[in-house]
Amino acid sequence: MSEPMQYLTILGSTGSIGVSTLDVVARNPDRFSVTALTARTRIDLLFEQCCRFKPGYAVVLEADDAARLSQRLRAAAVETKVLCGVAALETVAALPEVSTVMAAIVGIAGLRPTLAAATAGKRVLLANKEALVTAGGLFMSAVRASGAELLPIDSEHNAVFQALPANRRGPLAESGVRRILLTASGGPFRTMPAALMAQVTPQQAVAHPNWSMGRKISVDSATMMNKGLEVIEAHFLFGATPSMIEVVIHPQSVIHSLVEYCDGSVLAQLGNPDMRTPIAHALGYPARIPSGADFLDLARIGSLDFEKPDLVRFPCLRLAYDALAAGPAAVIALNAANEVAVAEFLERRIGFLDIPRLIESVVSGTPNRSITTIADVESVDLEARSLALAACSGGLSPRAAGGLS
Ligand code: NAD
Ligand code: MG
Repeated sequence: MSEPMQYLTILGSTGSIGVSTLDVVARNPDRFSVTALTARTRIDLLFEQCCRFKPGYAVVLEADDAARLSQRLRAAAVETKVLCGVAALETVAALPEVSTVMAAIVGIAGLRPTLAAATAGKRVLLANKEALVTAGGLFMSAVRASGAELLPIDSEHNAVFQALPANRRGPLAESGVRRILLTASGGPFRTMPAALMAQVTPQQAVAHPNWSMGRKISVDSATMMNKGLEVIEAHFLFGATPSMIEVVIHPQSVIHSLVEYCDGSVLAQLGNPDMRTPIAHALGYPARIPSGADFLDLARIGSLDFEKPDLVRFPCLRLAYDALAAGPAAVIALNAANEVAVAEFLERRIGFLDIPRLIESVVSGTPNRSITTIADVESVDLEARSLALAACSGGLSPRAAGGLS
């Protein structure tokens, strides 16, 4: 209990990761104090969170939401100051009184605030994988330059972090690491024949067998683009070459990932599929703190299965490896096209199998170029989004319309 109090900004506090983070915080009130909460959606929940955790600041994106929230808080005698707009996200990520930032906005929308936290030298708990995927080089340089501490929240990367030697410095090979094995549940369509996959609905796609998550990452898990993004994430986080990163299907989601060493040892991290475990690990690090997750009952689980991923039925995983080999512009385009494709699929404007088709066409239409600033990242992202939207309103929709029931 001698640990200093950590002052938190939670970017995306009303999402799945944000809510789980506040659950862990509430279980450890002597360790954490909430300085800022941010949300774009579920403003009623943000209001409740402000009443309970009394942050100094709350940030929303729309002026209407800000005015209403501010009025309700005043009426409830809560002194939280309400800020509005994208720039305010960066402000609360870099406040001098904040020690730790949970980056849990979904998509590239989280890039600037997450980078602001890294540049300000905070302890950054990284859930927002799209920030690292799209700007990995810039992001890791910012972390090194400021001395920020980057702790992965994504369960696989958190598992790898736990299985690597503590205080590791230098290339992975110097620590005797041979391979990183990322586990993947395979998602809701793991055993579905390809012929049926054209017909699947958004409801089926977001019904993940093991994890309860936001809609975008749930669709990413169904296409396996989530694992593709995680391969890219692992490349930047751990400095692993793509050939060192392998994906293995593990339907029970009990082993969260593994590290293989040159002597043949393989270290894994296990636990029930509950994001509060990696969140508590990173919040408390290096101390261990209660998370609220159930403890693992291996005898009840009985057996753990493994298989190779099927890159024919799940081409998104292959597309991610290809983009990583092609260079940073391809990776940014891959992410942008995926964000557009998932949103269009959720709106039932394209079919499930159009997602990889769209991504492949956008990436192949994106020329290679060097990426040295955040403005470069954003310009490739915007171009790729307009290519993707043009393709949706053009060639892809008739096929999708035929596929939707
Ligand atoms: P979610 O959709 O449940 O929540 C997203 C949060 O970000 C919400 O608070 C929302 O209001 C806010 N937000 C959305 N768009 C925004 C925008 N344009 N600007 C500012 N704020 C915005 O998402 P989630 O499932 O909690 O995932 C968050 C991130 O964590 C994603 O990058 C996801 O890949 C990653 N992640 C999630 C899980 C999980 O179990 N949910 C696991 C691993 C990694
Ligand atoms: Mg994951």
